[in-house]
Amino acid sequence: MTLTDPGPTTPTGGPGLPQRRHLVTALPGPRSQQILARKVAAVPQGVGHTVPVAAVAAGGGVVVDADGNSLIDLGSGIAVTTVGASHPKVVEAIQAQAAQFTHTCFMISPYESYIAVAEALNRLTPGDHDKKSALFNSGAEAVENAVKIARKYTGKQAVVAFDHGYHGRTNLTMALTAKSMPYKSGFGPFAPEVYRVPGSYPLRDALSGPDAAARAITLIDKQVGADNLAAVIIEPIQGEGGFIVPADGFLPAIADWCRANGVVFIADEVQSGFARTGAMFASELFGIVPDLVTTAKGIAAGMPLAAVTGRAEIMDAAHLGGLGGTYGGNPVACAAALAAIDAFENDGLIERAQHLERLLRGRLEPLAAADPRIGEVRGRGAMMAMEFVDPDTGAPDAALTAAVAKAALAEGVILLTCGTHGNVIRFLPPLSIPDDLLHEGLDVVASALASR
Ligand code: PMP
Repeated sequence: MTLTDPGPTTPTGGPGLPQRRHLVTALPGPRSQQILARKVAAVPQGVGHTVPVAAVAAGGGVVVDADGNSLIDLGSGIAVTTVGASHPKVVEAIQAQAAQFTHTCFMISPYESYIAVAEALNRLTPGDHDKKSALFNSGAEAVENAVKIARKYTGKQAVVAFDHGYHGRTNLTMALTAKSMPYKSGFGPFAPEVYRVPGSYPLRDALSGPDAAARAITLIDKQVGADNLAAVIIEPIQGEGGFIVPADGFLPAIADWCRANGVVFIADEVQSGFARTGAMFASELFGIVPDLVTTAKGIAAGMPLAAVTGRAEIMDAAHLGGLGGTYGGNPVACAAALAAIDAFENDGLIERAQHLERLLRGRLEPLAAADPRIGEVRGRGAMMAMEFVDPDTGAPDAALTAAVAKAALAEGVILLTCGTHGNVIRFLPPLSIPDDLLHEGLDVVASALASR
């Protein structure tokens, strides 16, 4: 398919907001400034924000601020509003459920929508084995629970995570997360029995997938030992660490080693799940069937919901009452998830993500060919990135990355960065963004780069 081929471009969702970039003030405008001044006084500085405007509406491919500025959204609130920030089916489901009841606590009086979400996850996650799912509130909470379950099942304690990995900000997930600043610095001590090994980063390690896996497995063998190891946790495409796509063969080799050694293989699909990568789950792109999968973000279109899904015998290892939480699988969040899952399955959103990959590659690869500061364009589906480097040394160029994101924002484009070295721009548009708006956003990024 070429760029001019329209493909499955009919965007879904949106509250009828005009789909356009339109600035009526310099950013931030006066209303946003007032609101953000109150934020400074009322909210601790640790809770930062990337885009200094106060949002009042969002949908399709735009975020509208308190001054009436309409910005192009290339971030989806960090890969959450994959179906759009106000998809009509999701809005309707939330409203209907809220009018019925907002909470009973699933551990007190269960309700059907939680069970229906679990059934959908059991059906949609990779592999045709018997599965079960438990629901939680955040990605970090799902990861914590996946580790709990793996420890109980194996009777072992150690967990291996990878360089550049990100798994959350709670105590255990801080330990699993690689990057110190800003996620961990000063917040220790961290949970014990967490070990980190190098993964596969083709741009920087130049190793084949099997060779990168052999390097990791040797370290795991020597420094931890399968006899002590409950689980290996990995993002199939690393998110916060820089949208790093592992070399072919890396993930299958790690998964095979886990299976052969009685180690639970956990795929953290919190960022990469739910059509984001042009597959329902990124694990499918690499031909792996994880024992446990953690999900959140895109699952419920912005409502707080997360899940652990996995082999029934592993999931059932936790004793009665060992899993749960007051809000986990909240009925309003479950209603939103069922509507979002309906959209993922029936509105052609996987094909739409594949189309957006072609559109993004069609724009980003020519930029990279003409500009040696772009070390690599990589990613899958609507989870694409550019890594900026010093053309002479290959060293990460965080300053250029920050400058491009800042310049794009000044022109009304929300652009997120990531990467251990802060030198990656990531493109995470909602799948509901119209093609012409995405093109316009990429025009802005291209001229921000050209002027630097
Ligand atoms: N795992 C991955 C792969 C993530 O990208 C994130 C969030 N960026 C998390 C876990 C943590 O999710 P949450 O912020 O919902 O706790």
